[in-house]
Amino acid sequence: TTIPTLQLNDGRSIPQLGFGVFKVDPAETERIVTEALEAGYRHIDTAAIYRNEEGVGRAIARSGIPRDELFITTKLWNDRRGAAETRAAMGESLEKLGLDHVDLYLIHWPAPPNGSVVETWETFAELRSEGLTTSIGVSNFDERFLPGVLETGIVPAVDQIELHPQFQQRAATALAAEHDIKIEAWGPLGQGKVDYSATVIGEIAERLGVSWAQVTLAWHLAAGRIVFPKSNRPERMAENLAAAEVTLSADDIAAIDALDQGAAGRVSADPADAN
Ligand code: NAD
Repeated sequence: TTIPTLQLNDGRSIPQLGFGVFKVDPAETERIVTEALEAGYRHIDTAAIYRNEEGVGRAIARSGIPRDELFITTKLWNDRRGAAETRAAMGESLEKLGLDHVDLYLIHWPAPPNGSVVETWETFAELRSEGLTTSIGVSNFDERFLPGVLETGIVPAVDQIELHPQFQQRAATALAAEHDIKIEAWGPLGQGKVDYSATVIGEIAERLGVSWAQVTLAWHLAAGRIVFPKSNRPERMAENLAAAEVTLSADDIAAIDALDQGAAGRVSADPADAN
């Protein structure tokens, strides 16, 4: 499987399909990420709060894959905002990952709105200048929060937000597009909380002879979004990666677009609530 790449607004390229490790048990992470790398994934999405950066780092180290063939993202947790704390937290993440830089560093959540997001974001730009992260972005900054970051004049390369067929985040996506900010869709499969096989996605999958998860991922890829579905199971890791080979017709894409329920389709936390 050839994994497509996208170009970010800072000129860097990112594998459009990666592997996410939210809720991957820290004790199992080295093995599971090793399996993902063996399956062919080269983009791993973790976060300090997942407590599994060390396992990700060990899997990277033992893989022997050249560093420049990997794309590694981690995220700053909410209690580490402000210039000094952000610098310290970034250092801790790099230490745990065993890396001298990450490819993408994200502010994990916008709330609580304590004013330090701006200072933190300006520090992110410094960390990028210093080479500790190649690209910088935000996460969970929907249309209510993205303007505050844009006011600094520092444009995020990506915005990582909950997005799947019944929750399509049209306002955030439109605002991001105006600034050439790529959307990373978290929970791309609905986190296993929505039975998409019982929707038109299941019908399309049956007709194409692929799985509902592959149809859903192909729909994201066709829209130019970045995805990193999570699975602990090697057969699903391979299945999800093979979604890059699935092509949907314009009619099929329109049918999935029609599943949007707006905010009612959200399955996880609202960024406006403190996390
Ligand atoms: P997801 O939509 O990727 O769903 C994962 C679940 O879907 C799995 O646990 C499994 O139950 C099921 N699944 C996976 N592959 C399947 C397949 N082929 N067939 C059937 N079921 C399948 O949800 P996620 O893990 O929450 O999101 C992906 C990644 O996004 C995370 O691992 C993490 O890296 C990131 N994320 C970020 C945030 C954030 O706040 N920035 C929040 C949640 C997740």
